[in-house]
Amino acid sequence: MKTTRTTYISKMATELKPSGIRRFFDLAAGMEGVISLGVGEPDFVTPWHIREAAINSLERGITSYTPNAGIIELREEIANYMKSTFDVEYCPKSEIIVTVGASSAIDMAMRTLLDPGDEVIVVEPCFVSYVPMVELAGGVAVKVQATKEHDFKIQASQLEGAITPKTKAIMLCSPNNPTGTMLNREELQAIANLAIEHDLLIIADEIYAELSYDEEYTSMAAIDGMRDRTILVSGFSKSFAMTGWRLGFVCSPVEISSAMLKVHQYSLLCASTMSQYAAVEALRNGRPDIDEMVKSYRRRRNFIVQSFNEIGLTCHEPGGAFYAFPSIESTGLSSQEFAEQLLMKESVAVVPGDVFGESGEGFIRCSYASSLEQLQEAVKRIKRFIDSL
Ligand code: PMP
Repeated sequence: MKTTRTTYISKMATELKPSGIRRFFDLAAGMEGVISLGVGEPDFVTPWHIREAAINSLERGITSYTPNAGIIELREEIANYMKSTFDVEYCPKSEIIVTVGASSAIDMAMRTLLDPGDEVIVVEPCFVSYVPMVELAGGVAVKVQATKEHDFKIQASQLEGAITPKTKAIMLCSPNNPTGTMLNREELQAIANLAIEHDLLIIADEIYAELSYDEEYTSMAAIDGMRDRTILVSGFSKSFAMTGWRLGFVCSPVEISSAMLKVHQYSLLCASTMSQYAAVEALRNGRPDIDEMVKSYRRRRNFIVQSFNEIGLTCHEPGGAFYAFPSIESTGLSSQEFAEQLLMKESVAVVPGDVFGESGEGFIRCSYASSLEQLQEAVKRIKRFIDSL
C-alpha cells in the first residue's frame, strides 16, 4: 500500500541530489543588484543571421518532425565542420546524430553503453550531470580527481589506477567546466594510449572546443587510433551562443551511432526543427561570430585571472571555456562558506567548487561570460569581501 505521494518515487530519483549550482541560483534569485558569475552560458545573444534562419524556416511552414538523426543538411554541415575544424571524418548518414543539447547526447551515450554495474571513469572536477547520467543509466561512476598541482590536468597514471575489468569508458571534458583546463595533444595521447591498451571508449565532451585561447585545439577523435574509440559530444550552446535552442550533436563509429539512435528515437524522437535550420546557418556562416566572441572572452579571461591573482586568490590560467577557478584556500573558508558569505555580503554569485567534485573544494567557479564592467565591479566587491575577513 502506497501511503504518501513520495513513496511512488523510484529509489534512483529519491537518491538523486539536486544540482549544487541551482541552490546558488535560488539563493541569488530574490536578491537585488546581484552580479552573477554563476551561470554557465554566454552573455551574447545568438547572432541575428542564425535567428533569421529559424524565422525563415517557420515562415516557410517547416514545422513537422525531422528524421530521428536530424535533417541531412545539418548532418552534412556537421561532417564538413568536423573535418575542416578538427580533422576528423564522420559519415553524415550513419555516424552523426543531432541531439537536444550536448546534455541529451551524454545521457544517450550512457544509456547505450552501460549494463548494470558497468563502470565509467569520471574525471572531476566536472560538469554536474556526468555522475547522475552514469547512475541513472545503471552504471557506476568511478571518480578520479584532477588536482591543482597539475593545473587540473588529469594524469594518465591516475586513470590507470582506476581501471577495473568493469570499466567501459572514460568521461573526459576539455576545455573543462569548471576549471577551464584544456588538454594538449601530448596529454590526450597519453590518455588515448591507455584507452587503446585497456580497450576502453572515451566519451569526449568537446562542447567548449571552439573557446580555446592559447594553443590550437586537438580533438580526442583526431588522435591516432581514437576515432573509433571516441564518442564525441558537442553542440551549439557555447560556441554559437545558442543555449536556449537546445541543440547538440554526437559523432561516433557506426555501430555505436546506430545503437544510440534507437535510444534517441524512443526518448526524444528528434531535436527541434527550427533549431536545426538555425544550426545549418550557424555552421555555414558563423565563423566570424565565433572569432569575435573568442576575442572578447580572451580579453575577459586575461582581466579576471590577473585580477584574482592580484587580490590574493591564486588562479591558474584556463586555456579554454569561460570559467576561472581561483583558489580561496588563503581565506580559511570552505568553498560553500565563501560563496554563501560573498553572496550575502557583497551580492556576487559564484559557484562553490565542491559541487563539481571533491578536488573542487577550496576553489570557486567564476564564469567570465559577463561584460568587462560587470567583471571589474565583481572583482572590486570580492576584494572588499576578502579584506573584511
Ligand atoms: N557539457 C558541459 C561541459 C557543459 O558545461 C554543458 C552546459 N553547461 C553541457 C555539456 C550541456 O550543454 P547543452 O546546452 O548543449 O545541453
